[in-house]
Amino acid sequence: MKRENVSILGSTGSIGKSTLDVISRNQDRFRVAALTANRNVADLAAQCADFDARLAVIADTTLERELADELKARGARAEAMSGEAGLRQAAGMEETDTVMAAIVGAAGLNSTFEAARRGKKILLANKESLVIAGEVFVAEARKNQASILPVDSEHNAIFQAMPQGFEHGLDDAGVEKIILTASGGPFRTLPADQFSAVTPEQACNHPNWSMGRKISVDSATLMNKGLEVIEARWLFSAHPDQIEVLVHPQSIVHSMVTYRDGSVLAQMGTPDMRTPIAYALAWPGRIEAGVERLNLAQMNDLSFEKPDLAKFPCLQLAFEAMSAGASAPVTLNASNEVAVAAFLEGKIGFDQIPRLVRDVMERISVTAVKNLDDVMEHDRQARSAAQQWVTKFYG
Ligand code: NAD
Ligand code: MG
Repeated sequence: MKRENVSILGSTGSIGKSTLDVISRNQDRFRVAALTANRNVADLAAQCADFDARLAVIADTTLERELADELKARGARAEAMSGEAGLRQAAGMEETDTVMAAIVGAAGLNSTFEAARRGKKILLANKESLVIAGEVFVAEARKNQASILPVDSEHNAIFQAMPQGFEHGLDDAGVEKIILTASGGPFRTLPADQFSAVTPEQACNHPNWSMGRKISVDSATLMNKGLEVIEARWLFSAHPDQIEVLVHPQSIVHSMVTYRDGSVLAQMGTPDMRTPIAYALAWPGRIEAGVERLNLAQMNDLSFEKPDLAKFPCLQLAFEAMSAGASAPVTLNASNEVAVAAFLEGKIGFDQIPRLVRDVMERISVTAVKNLDDVMEHDRQARSAAQQWVTKFYG
């Protein structure tokens, strides 16, 4: 049987490494085509040598020569490329069957979009792409018969609990609601008046999941759940009223689908991204993922509660952006990316993240988004307004 060729965009990150781990356990079925990273030449070259990749791409163009030297030094046969053109090549090249989109933030949009343009099987971790370009991205994928398989644990759980044919309409499939579960993050029980003193290290110390720094901060503000609500809307063609969020601190139930007849289907598992990655890779089959098994007998508490939107305004802002539609989610995402970066650099407080996002959303008017250029233009505009907010505040 021909092995499936997988390109991993963002292979040096948390999702990228977990994907390589799952591939290493299933080498009879999958092989690596291309790997990419932002600036981490050493890890990228080592991965290319270990997995015998054909192509290595470093996003920072000033590091291409260093990458080529490092590949040679390690005896890796991968060709070196850099920049957006390199990322697009990794996503769209002929021998690639499947693309794991695991770059963080809007920086992943162009290359993920290229995978849609080339009709690839897309394993989507880069939720920001769908948040900012939802309609345009889904239409491009449909046009080129690219499939989008969700990697985000909640959406992967929903996908597992969805009936066949759901893509033709949730109502026809008997689905009533999608319930996204949220851990509540590290500050679920911390009083809001202490949010101003929260440090980046505390925010990145998630109780259940080990993830990259940006998504860890998003999980602490609950913006991550807000982005996921918008992501779910596009992935499952859901009406905004059909999507709900419940806080479930144990992170065992990864999300649920409720049906017209009263049934609730949930997917459970230990909080380890290798499960959703393995499911997306092997769908509709199942492969070994290397995860610890769930021991339900030792679990005496699975609890669910409504999220506190006053304490976590980012989730409320995301619901508002979803209702407003058009360019509103682009503004939400861009201002959040700037805010999170400023928080991680110690320029603004944790409590200022939602304030910045709200101010920028109030300042920028909502207009139509018809194509990728519109998305990029709105993204630039919102980023610049958010940057001004930080400069005014921090100097
Ligand atoms: P990470 O920060 O650990 O890794 C990001 C990867 O993208 C790295 O390989 C990095 O080199 C690359 N990258 C960063 N900036 C780039 C740029 N400007 N251009 C090109 N490449 C760049 O992030 P992560 O936690 O692995 O998350 C990746 C994506 O998956 C995010 O969109 C996140 O929301 C989503 N996701 C992650 C998890 C998780 O458990 N980590 C779960 C669900 C969804
Ligand atoms: Mg998630």
